[in-house]
Amino acid sequence: AKADGRNLFRFFDPQMQKLLGERLALESDLKQALAGRQFEIYLQPQLASDRRVTGAEVLLRWHHPERGLVYPGYFITAAEHTGAIHDIGVWVFEQACLLLTKWAGGAITRALTLAVNVSARQFRQADFVDRVRRLLQQTGANPKLIKLELTESLALDSVDETVAKMLALRELGLAIALDDFGTGQSSLAYLKRLPLNELKIDQSFVRDITTDQNDAVLVQTIIGMAQNLNLEVVAEGVETEQQLDFLVKHGCPAYQGFFFSEPVPVTEFERKFAA
Ligand code: C2E
Ligand code: CA
Ligand code: CA
Ligand code: CA
Repeated sequence: AKADGRNLFRFFDPQMQKLLGERLALESDLKQALAGRQFEIYLQPQLASDRRVTGAEVLLRWHHPERGLVYPGYFITAAEHTGAIHDIGVWVFEQACLLLTKWAGGAITRALTLAVNVSARQFRQADFVDRVRRLLQQTGANPKLIKLELTESLALDSVDETVAKMLALRELGLAIALDDFGTGQSSLAYLKRLPLNELKIDQSFVRDITTDQNDAVLVQTIIGMAQNLNLEVVAEGVETEQQLDFLVKHGCPAYQGFFFSEPVPVTEFERKFAA
């Protein structure tokens, strides 16, 4: 009875009440966001070590009618919670496909890749691969120019199912990247089983490479491991010339980060990087 009393007290805690209210408001606003055309994709360039732009990561932005520009850190978890992430994810993937089709039609002269984030909740859906296949057919986008970025949170699922889905996606021509590599709990034995094309070194390791010996060694180890496993590797969160020098010196073939550019609206990306 005592424990119940405490919970009851907590429930009526005004601070808790406020947070709960905000969460419910956010979840209800999210329902309107797609229909209200409040989402926009931004692009952050990805570069080769010679500083050539090879493509971009697609990052979602929400123009909230009252709050203004809202970042995914604020709403992706809520979208996963309500299930809105499924429609949002389809929309993002479709936008990426349409952009590639537009580019292929002559809007730009080079073939740039697009990396699309896929949350584990989305990937877990039984018809995920079918929806991807249908969108590729509908838009005519070249699957060879699309990378799907998945995280280690997939490790909670059956490894056989995960592998089968990844193989089906690769069969369609898409590449698979493992995002935020090194931050999850999964073992190398598990990761070795996944049919990956690319590892993305998490920005938390890149941040201190020039000052923290442990991070420096860790990043060098990941680069070496990727090379030995025949995986591409991209360093994210590169903010300084020193970090880039370190990465290039240690054989990292690709990177992205504020040092080169923040994520920008599509038209700005085209004007600056895709001419
Ligand atoms: P992420 O996939 O790890 O994306 C990289 C995040 O780091 C982006 O934040 C990007 O703006 C930021 N970033 C890039 N360069 C730098 C840098 O040099 N320094 C620092 N400090 N940060 C940098 P953003 O756009 O706020 O996205 C946050 C997360 O939201 C993403 O992390 C991703 O997990 C998720 N997300 C974004 N778009 C989507 C989407 O369309 N679908 C899903 N499921 N998740 C998304
Ligand atoms: Ca990502
Ligand atoms: Ca990441
Ligand atoms: Ca992240």
